[in-house]
Amino acid sequence: MKQLPLLLDCEVLIVGGGPAGSVAAIAAARQGARTVLLERQGFLGGNITAGGIDTIYGFFTPGENPVKIVGGIPDEVIDRLRVLDACYERPNTYGSGIGITFSTEYLKLVLEEMANEAGALIVYHAFAPDVYFKDGNLAGVVVATKQGLQRVLGQFFVDSTGDADIVAHAGGSYEKAGEEGPIQSLTTVLFMANVNIGRAKAFGKKAMWAEMEEAQRSGEYNLPRVEGSFHPTPSPGMIEANMTRIADVDATDIIAISKAETEGRRQVQEYVRFLKDRVPGFESAFLVKTGCHIGVRETRRIVGDYVLKKDDVLEGRRFEDAIARCGMPIEDHHAGADTRWIYVKDFGYYDIPYRCLIPHDLDYILVAGRCLSATHDAHASARSAGPAMAMGQAAGLAAAMAVAEDKSGREISVHDLQERLRQWGAPL
Ligand SMILES: Cc1cc2nc3c(=O)[nH]c(=O)nc-3n(C[C@H](O)[C@H](O)[C@H](O)COP(=O)(O)OP(=O)(O)OC[C@H]3O[C@@H](n4cnc5c(N)ncnc54)[C@H](O)[C@@H]3O)c2cc1C
Repeated sequence: MKQLPLLLDCEVLIVGGGPAGSVAAIAAARQGARTVLLERQGFLGGNITAGGIDTIYGFFTPGENPVKIVGGIPDEVIDRLRVLDACYERPNTYGSGIGITFSTEYLKLVLEEMANEAGALIVYHAFAPDVYFKDGNLAGVVVATKQGLQRVLGQFFVDSTGDADIVAHAGGSYEKAGEEGPIQSLTTVLFMANVNIGRAKAFGKKAMWAEMEEAQRSGEYNLPRVEGSFHPTPSPGMIEANMTRIADVDATDIIAISKAETEGRRQVQEYVRFLKDRVPGFESAFLVKTGCHIGVRETRRIVGDYVLKKDDVLEGRRFEDAIARCGMPIEDHHAGADTRWIYVKDFGYYDIPYRCLIPHDLDYILVAGRCLSATHDAHASARSAGPAMAMGQAAGLAAAMAVAEDKSGREISVHDLQERLRQWGAPL
């Protein structure tokens, strides 16, 4: 194959600028590595900005005695949002602990500012469809942009694509959602304005769900999920709603996800019609927007040096090589009309081991975020934005340490990594 032109050469190459990748880039650059962050969109935040999510979960354990379990760079992100009056804390309607509801536009800005200040080079509109090997080692990624196909070379890689694209293209092992068991459904998120929030909230979720069931049964509406929720955003009179459900889709299959986008938009119209007709407070509301793309919960999960399991989550297991904590319940958006929730023992937390970020058959690459090494059930807990940021912080720092010490991810001292994470404010 013809040698592709070289776009950039760096030490730590991070692919995917979601909550995991953005924080990984800040961490790696702060640790002194020449860092490049490739992102296919024109902004950072991944599913929590592009997908239209309004609340970051996972900074606190759920239950009556919340414990703060994510910190460091993720805290700085929230602090900056607070200064901009662009977030507030709220208890989750489902009991996932205190959530941080934020303004999408300000989160894009804050993540970008922090990455730039740290010295990372962000390259937008850059999709990585393949990898590049040299002398048998992963040496870079192919990047598809308006300039055509080019190479971006790196010494160490963080795959924070959510879909483990880089690990998959490099030939690393992964499990695909739905291959063995269920697959998490997709959701197109919608925003409505001019909502009388007081009246809508007073109506209550249980009453709304009963109304949904009746509406579905009557045949007047087509509502595949007869539950879901809406949340006031920091913008007065505007809500975000997470209600649609597009089941059994392999989101790495381009034809399947294209059809899912269309179906998601169709469902949005139906839920908007339902809300306006049947829920007090929505009478004069209107649809403002949907997410830039459909929300994808689960695609590829890498097979790492350790695979996080359901028991690890529910028992609140601790690990010697902990790099993050997670107290999120298993939240399974299966194909049926409801969602299954199972909590960690005593509303506590479990550790995410460093080994879950190390692809077991590759060197010089870590993953962060929702493509971690976990079973379907464990993934349904660890995939939230809070733990994704915590994993990103660990992966970015570990990647920079590995470059500085000329080691693979497996060879660095986990003890040193943990010490530095603690110094940065990560509760470990
Ligand atoms: C409908 C829905 C509702 C949710 N609600 C919540 C919630 O309320 N609170 C919460 O905390 N979490 C929620 N989540 C979960 C959360 O959004 C994700 O799990 C989280 O965003 C994972 O972060 P990530 O960085 O691992 O991946 P992502 O957010 O998916 O980010 C991956 C990034 O990589 C980029 N990318 C992908 N492939 C490539 C490539 N090949 N080249 C270049 N760039 C690439 C993408 O554009 C994206 O920016 C929800 C998820 C869904 C789908």
